[in-house]
Amino acid sequence: MLNPLTPVPFRSPGTDGTGRSGYPPAPEPLPVPVLDNHTHLDFRSGELSVGVKDALDAAAAVGVQGAVQVGCDLESSRFTVQAVDLDARLLGAVALHPNDAPDYALRGELDGALAEIEALAAHPRIRAIGETGLDFFRTEGEGLAHQRYSFRRHIDIAKRLGLTLQIHDRDAHDDVVQVLREEGAPERVVFHCFSGDEELARTCNTEGWYMSFAGTVTFKNASNLRAALAIAEPTRILVETDAPFLTPHPHRGRPNASYMIPYTVRAMADVTGSDLSALCAEIAENSVRAYGSWT
Ligand SMILES: [Zn+2]
Ligand SMILES: [Zn+2]
Repeated sequence: MLNPLTPVPFRSPGTDGTGRSGYPPAPEPLPVPVLDNHTHLDFRSGELSVGVKDALDAAAAVGVQGAVQVGCDLESSRFTVQAVDLDARLLGAVALHPNDAPDYALRGELDGALAEIEALAAHPRIRAIGETGLDFFRTEGEGLAHQRYSFRRHIDIAKRLGLTLQIHDRDAHDDVVQVLREEGAPERVVFHCFSGDEELARTCNTEGWYMSFAGTVTFKNASNLRAALAIAEPTRILVETDAPFLTPHPHRGRPNASYMIPYTVRAMADVTGSDLSALCAEIAENSVRAYGSWT
């Protein structure tokens, strides 16, 4: 298997050696550096995986100077703590994903796992609890009660530790907002891979919640998302990859990594009618306000 971690495959279109498409070519660098506020460096895309240093080197080469590595279960949250120790360009988030929480609950392990998440979150470079939230697309029935319980517990951990809350919201906008209001939202809330419409954007504007836009905002059928971005308060806009998923246009369907962010940011500048450098500076500033300094 061709190792895609070296800079060469990142910079040239190619295959993974099995005939499938590999990583897309690198875009033109951004004029001002930004940060990828949601990525999964431990996830593989098919047979491809990205080493931490190589992924961040490739990102830095196009003006993405750091990232938030996000854990989804105990294993990836433990990896996240190791990763932030390994490379100073990373901050971390730890949590049990809303689609994983029901599995922990059914094994009778949810409370124990939440206690470990809280312990991992004590690391000074873990700045967020996430991704947590509600997912009505992949979880149903009995699992939803466990999902809601887990979301509430994550909100509580974020508030007690003074950390940012990173929300995964799939087909669940109204319920996510309702739970946040019932529990009382932490000081800083980020809707990762923002998937709402103008109504949710207005709620985020009013509440001061961050909207993190992913490659989905570049998709042809995503006019609702672009309408939401167009009215989003500029001080609340973030950008992310959710890599290895959600690769932006024109490389949708191929693996994603933080070096692909410039495609998304350029599309966001078009939607908002912003000067590209000014938008990059704003995103960088918002990222540091949301998570604290990387340096
Ligand atoms: Zn998610
Ligand atoms: Zn994610």
